[in-house]
Amino acid sequence: MDLLSNIDSIKGVGEKTTKLFNKLGVYTIEDILLFFPRTYLVYPKPSTPDKDSVDSLISIAGRLKNSPKFFRTRNKMDVLSAVAYVDDIPVDLVWFNSNYLKSNFEPGKIYIFYGRLVLDKGRYKMSQPSIFTPEKYLEVQKQIQPIYHLTKGLSNNLVLKSVREAFDKCNISKERLPLELETRNKLMPYDKALFTYHFPETFDKLVAARRRLAYEEMFFFILNSRLQENESVSFPNEFKINHHQITDDFKNELAFSLTNDQENVLSDILSDLQGPYVTQRLIQGDVGSGKTIVAFLAMLDVALSGYQAAIMAPTEVLAKQHYQNFVEWVKSAGVNVPVALFTGSMKASEKKSMQKLVEENNSCLIIGTHALISDGRTFGDLALVITDEQHRFGVQQRDKLSSKGNHPHMIVMSATPIPRTLAMILYGNMHVSIIKQLPANRLPIKTCVIKESRRATAFKFVADEIAKNHQVYIICPLVEASETTEAQNVTDYSKKLKSYFRDKYSIGVLHGKMKPSEKNQVMEDFAEHKTQILVSTTVVEVGVNVPNATVIMIENANRFGLAALHQLRGRVGRGDAQSYCILMNASQDNHESERLNIMLKSNDGFFIAKEDLKLRGPGDMFGVRQSGEFSFKVADIYQDADELELASSDVDSILKEDPSLDNHLELRSTMNLFLANQFYVL
Ligand code: ADP
Ligand code: MG
Repeated sequence: MDLLSNIDSIKGVGEKTTKLFNKLGVYTIEDILLFFPRTYLVYPKPSTPDKDSVDSLISIAGRLKNSPKFFRTRNKMDVLSAVAYVDDIPVDLVWFNSNYLKSNFEPGKIYIFYGRLVLDKGRYKMSQPSIFTPEKYLEVQKQIQPIYHLTKGLSNNLVLKSVREAFDKCNISKERLPLELETRNKLMPYDKALFTYHFPETFDKLVAARRRLAYEEMFFFILNSRLQENESVSFPNEFKINHHQITDDFKNELAFSLTNDQENVLSDILSDLQGPYVTQRLIQGDVGSGKTIVAFLAMLDVALSGYQAAIMAPTEVLAKQHYQNFVEWVKSAGVNVPVALFTGSMKASEKKSMQKLVEENNSCLIIGTHALISDGRTFGDLALVITDEQHRFGVQQRDKLSSKGNHPHMIVMSATPIPRTLAMILYGNMHVSIIKQLPANRLPIKTCVIKESRRATAFKFVADEIAKNHQVYIICPLVEASETTEAQNVTDYSKKLKSYFRDKYSIGVLHGKMKPSEKNQVMEDFAEHKTQILVSTTVVEVGVNVPNATVIMIENANRFGLAALHQLRGRVGRGDAQSYCILMNASQDNHESERLNIMLKSNDGFFIAKEDLKLRGPGDMFGVRQSGEFSFKVADIYQDADELELASSDVDSILKEDPSLDNHLELRSTMNLFLANQFYVL
């Protein structure tokens, strides 16, 4: 068996299991070794069920008074049910299609049950809890269990066994980085790190393994981008772009005046557009800092100078929103500049007429999703391309957009707040502009962290805001196939909400599994105030702007990284009304409350992400990634900021001696293999 063997060479992985693994993107032995746990579980001490532990994963020490009962439902499902008493508190337990469990119980004895506690018609309940004898439980409590992403039919245990088997049967090379670097930076050897990342004996070892893998990931990332940078040439700027009075007039007539930071970034861009070389610039601005209008003003100058300018957004919802804004802005600027939109779900006839618009107009503004870079699409003389929410795109996709023109100026926009030094490492080849200030009319968002027991108060608050004609987002954690039983399913949730509010409000539902056109419709309805509440997974995280929404309530907020919560919170507070963020903390862990309380202290995304990490114990460093940017598998730009700087200076010193890696051929080939396996495109 070697790294490239098919996973069916693992004992116990047959045709059916292979298909399930394939669903998760795992095809080869190497894939399975790199199929990292999404989190780790240490079984908690048994506790007493109470209101605050509802919806958390807990374990209880319960005594069965009677033997479990078994019955068959109408749709032929075998159900085993029992009541466990924790002191005097009854907890209903059910298992499906697991009758073999029946013989495992002896009434009168104490067992430990581990699972998610729910409240069902006033009674505590656990579905499919794991069962242990107290002795066995003491034993498993000492272990750190890897928890993997799963899909229906594939159990955690099966993944775990397969990974173990792959490690047993396969040789993993030790040498990945120059030995000198490993020694100097005290890095765990690669093979050991890989194994430990799956099966850590202690959290300290897990942290060391993680550090090694994160360092390596960033090392190769930076090495590759520096090499590309060295090989890239600056193209002379042959576009004749002028700043136009009309743009200024329009800007001055806006309902608001730009912040100083917005003005500064705009003038950075304008001098780029007139500079000697074609530019590549990163505009980093925290959520709600007003990047769109800056992009528009730059694009308008480009169009008025006789060229085309395009902006690409990661979702149809966002692209459409930009389109509507741009159409309105062009109209109020009183200029005859056509605006074209391209999204995947548009009808062929619509695309055709948009294409015609682009072909017939030298000057125009173009907006779209990935549809912009699909192969058939052609543009006229593109002088400026902008990528919004750039972290949702690979570098290749950004380059593809550029390649639709003849070396146009390129701007990428990001809402991930990182300090300039880190930005310069990660975006080595770009100029960096930062918008720090938020518009002056903004009232700071009021944030609170509450427990399940105060849900009614929260809903009352929601109702009060709706009575003021405002709108509300409610976010449920992303539903993964494997988590359907765990996470609150948005659809069920919205039904419950509807009945809670006695059908008084119209409620939209948004989740990742919907078709783009459906998502658009839901989002549009919300933007046009046809719905009052939007129940959504984190798909709204990106860019959406509905200033009339003043409340965002986040269920199971403890499951999110604070950086993600910060982005979500940025969906409100986008107008001049006071806005609120309600974080529902479903965890009974005091530590979690403390962590969530950081959100009350600050509105600065970088500060929040860093503070979050300070408070995390090694055990909870893993489940939640702070930022999706750069799609590293292990590394996180906040958590590993120090390693990032280390890797950067190591790369620099290697390239200083050997600029094209001519004397490091092995390193170059490892890098290429590594990059090929990381799924992200650089
Ligand atoms: P982001 O930087 O998150 O992309 P947007 O560009 O979506 O932010 O802007 C958020 C909201 O702020 C929009 O409604 C926009 O019209 C408004 N806005 C932008 N700049 C200003 C400003 N200087 N003063 C007041 N409101 C502004
Ligand atoms: Mg935006």
